[in-house]
Order: sequence, then C-alpha cells, then structure tokens
Amino acid sequence: MNEADIVAAINKNELVFYYQPKVSLITGKVIGAEALLRWHRPDGVVVMPDEFIPLAERSTLVCDITRHMFPKLLKDLLVLLDIDGSLTVSFNASARDFHNAFFARTVIEQMADAQLPVGSLQVELTETVTLESGDTIRSHIQPLHEAGISLAMDDFGIGYSSLDTLSKWPFTTIKLDKGIVGRMLDSEKNATIVESSVRMAHELGINVVAEGVENNAQYQRLLESGCTKVQGFWISRPLPLERFMAFVKEDIRWSGMPIGLIHMAIIDHVQWRKQLVSEAAKLAVMPKDAPQRQFPAAPPLSCDECRLGLWYRGQGQFFRSRRAFQELEQPHCDFHEVGKRLMEMVALGANLDELTPYLRELSGHSMQVLNKLQELENEGLFDMHSAHEQWLAHELHPSRQPETA
Ligand code: C2E
Ligand code: CA
Ligand code: CA
Repeated sequence: MNEADIVAAINKNELVFYYQPKVSLITGKVIGAEALLRWHRPDGVVVMPDEFIPLAERSTLVCDITRHMFPKLLKDLLVLLDIDGSLTVSFNASARDFHNAFFARTVIEQMADAQLPVGSLQVELTETVTLESGDTIRSHIQPLHEAGISLAMDDFGIGYSSLDTLSKWPFTTIKLDKGIVGRMLDSEKNATIVESSVRMAHELGINVVAEGVENNAQYQRLLESGCTKVQGFWISRPLPLERFMAFVKEDIRWSGMPIGLIHMAIIDHVQWRKQLVSEAAKLAVMPKDAPQRQFPAAPPLSCDECRLGLWYRGQGQFFRSRRAFQELEQPHCDFHEVGKRLMEMVALGANLDELTPYLRELSGHSMQVLNKLQELENEGLFDMHSAHEQWLAHELHPSRQPETA
C-alpha cells in the first residue's frame, strides 16, 4: 500500500466510520461511541486504521482524511442524536490536524451549521500529540475547549508525563490505555496503577473512560475502582452505523453497581475533614484579629456542595433505596453544621483550646458518616460478588460476534 492507494480510497469514498459503544457504569446505559475508521475495499476486505493511518500521518494526507471524514461524522451524528439526543461521539484527531488554527474553526463552524449541540462531540488526542507539540498547537486547540467541545487524552498511562500534560491542557476526559486495562488483573501493582489513575482523575474533576475492556472480571474491577465509563469488546466491537443504531435501540442495561464510587465518597469525606481541620488549626494559632481568619481557605461548607454532598444528590442516588444511604444524610448535615460553627469561631478569634469541643463534635459526626458509608460499601460488595455468577451466565454479548460490515 502507498499514499496513492489512500488518496484513491478517499476519492472513491471507501472510508467509513464504525462506532464502538461507550457505557456508563452508573446508569449501565450506552452513552455514546468512539468513531473508528475502516476502509471498505471493493474486494470486500475491510482494512483497519493501523494499516494506513501511520502511513497517512507521515504527511498531510492524514489531514485530507480528517477533512474528508468530518462532514460524514457530523451526518452520522445527526442520525444518532435523532435516536438519543444525549449521545456523545468522539473522534480521533491527529497532531497535524492542529498545525494551523483553521481546523478547530472548521470543526466549530460545521457543528454550528449542522445545528449540532457542542456537547455531542469529543475530540480524542494522544499524549504523543500533545508532548511533541508546543504552545502553537495548544493555542489552536483552545478554541474547541472554549466552544464547549470536549477533549479526551487518548492512551493515558503509556507516556511519561501524562500528569504534566494533564495540568497544561484543557482535557476533560482521560482514556485509560487498553494495554494497562488489559494487564490490570495480572498483578495488584497493575490494578493499583488503574485505580490511582481513576482516583487522580476524580480529584481533578476529569472523566475516565477505560478502553479495551475485554471480560467481566475487568469490568467488575473497574466498577470497584470508581471508574465511570467503559469501552471494549466486552460491551461490543466497533460497529457499522446501522448496527450501532440497532445496538442503542436495544437499550441493553449493563448491570453492575458503581461500588467504587462509595469508596471515592469515603476518601472525599476524609479529605474534606482534614482540609477543614488543617485550615482551622492554622488560623487558630494566628493573632485573634489576623485578617486571614476572615478569609479562610476552607472547603465548601454547605453539605450540598462538598464532593460527598454532590455525590449524594447525584450519582449516589443509585443507592437511594438502601437504608444506610438514607441514614447518611442526617449525620452528614450535622457534620457540616458543626464545620460552619467551627469556622465562625475561628473568625471570632478562637484559639485551639476553644476549638477543641467543636473538633470533637465534628469527629463524632464524621465517624457516623463513615460508618454509614462503610455499611453501604459492605452491602454493595456482598451483593456484587453474589451476583457474579449471574453475570457469568449472561448470554447477551454482541462482543462475541466478529466485527463485520
Ligand atoms: P485508538 O484511538 O486507541 O482506538 C482504540 C482501538 O482499540 C481501536 O482499534 C479499537 O477497535 C480497539 N479496541 C477497542 N476495544 C478493544 C478491546 O476490548 N480489546 C482490544 N484488543 N482492542 C480494542 P482500531 O479501530 O483498529 O484503531 C486503531 C487506531 O487507529 C486508533 O487507536 C486510532 O489511533 C487510529 N484511528 C482510528 N480511527 C481514526 C481516525 O478517524 N483518525 C485518526 N487520525 N486515527 C484513527
Ligand atoms: Ca481513540
Ligand atoms: Ca486509545
């Protein structure tokens, strides 16, 4: 194969997108897909992107592919949004696409022309793209972010400075590389890498998609780790548009319990308490009238605004029928009330001795909160493992079918 073959494929309209479903581990529903290129040769052979994208990426040919395919993507997206308006489709962009500012502008304009909501599109970039490029490319990508089109860091975990890149680029999602997901059950060390990545993303307010999920064991472990989105052969292979549409319409619910999020909530609560107490202790040793006491760097004081509170009213509602979940609200609110009073005392000039009774009360409520969360987690873990057998008996797996047109 050479470049001329690829050019001919473009001209003869032989390139199409397949769509690989992404599933939410919270609702168990299909939430979107990644668009993946396939070259349908007239002889019936389907050529995979790894066989021609690397060659195309050596020159601006890859940009020709993107430019040719993007309107097709938007056309497919319109059809998909007709079935379910909340779907999000991501596509793979190459570094070269962003060598000039033109591409981002075109993306934004074409989305607007097609009257597509910006939230329905995501751009995937590999870390090598971001590493190799300087500020120019970053400035060319920035308008996408500003327009509300989200950016995902692809193949997260195989580079060297993912963390550095994450802090500098406006990524809203990381896609855990299928290599690290595939190895996560080989050793506890590998599982820890996945779990720490999920935890870090949670702290940064970044979404995580685990890709390359190939079996139930990986799926379950990801649920336990607090990961919220998965993609992989276990859900489905990439599908031609029509088959992806049928897949969405089937409305399969991928069962499972977002048990890992309870663990996240536990850590969030512990961190909130530490931050508050640390700030109070720092200010309490300052002079009574120190201006800093009026402007504490405290975490959100309201029980609706801390991470645990946000989870409780949002994704945590998955557990609303559980007694432990219902019994969590009161001690959590009490805990925050004491937190507020503590900071009021700090503002009034209280010293450490004067704060001690409040700190004690705060700890008491915190223990109750943690007890309820652990009760919920224990119940969940128990249920999850007892449901495991049923899971294994689950027959409905499009992933068992080969990828065909
Ligand atoms: P990628 O972006 O990392 O895409 C994920 C790849 O993993 C896809 O391979 C997908 O089919 C495969 N995959 C998904 N689930 C599983 C799984 O459970 N197990 C395993 N072993 N693999 C899984 P695919 O479609 O062959 O694409 C390969 C690469 O080609 C992509 O890697 C991406 O870098 C590139 N590519 C695909 N479409 C485009 C495109 O439209 N433009 C550009 N520039 N690159 C593209
Ligand atoms: Ca990708
Ligand atoms: Ca990837």
